[in-house]
Amino acid sequence: MKSRYEVFVSRDSFKFNAAHFIAYKGFRERLHGHNYRVSVRIEGPVGNDGYVIDFGDIKRAARDVCNRLNERFLVPMRSDVITIEVGDAQVKMVCEDGTRFAFPLADCVLLDIVHSSAEELAAFVCMQLREVLPVLHERCVVALEVGVAEAPNQEARYRIDL
Ligand code: ZN
Repeated sequence: MKSRYEVFVSRDSFKFNAAHFIAYKGFRERLHGHNYRVSVRIEGPVGNDGYVIDFGDIKRAARDVCNRLNERFLVPMRSDVITIEVGDAQVKMVCEDGTRFAFPLADCVLLDIVHSSAEELAAFVCMQLREVLPVLHERCVVALEVGVAEAPNQEARYRIDL
């Protein structure tokens, strides 16, 4: 019989407040913001110390990612409908409908995503955590899942098998 354990971490400190708008062909939301919440689920075997993984490692990594996103405008760098120009001090965006935005670069976070949806943000956070947590591999973790909630009870999840 093969068994697996799962740990789930969701803390008050796993949060970021950010502005964004979703844009895709023929549609653009107005600029608005959310108080995002992040949660992390990790599945794997229990080590000989009785843990799947040290909660402290997850907490540190999740807080760091949240801090990078906090109080920023989320720029979806791979958008197929927004023309984005990153200068020394400004990020300029021209949308399909002709709308123009310019934000200070320091107020933005440039993300390698197509849309700043909760789904794609969850994928972004998940990949970041995988990158900064070699301990996942060391502990033979089999799956990593990240939830990003835009509002209470409105959450997207992204999961990778490791
Ligand atoms: Zn939104």
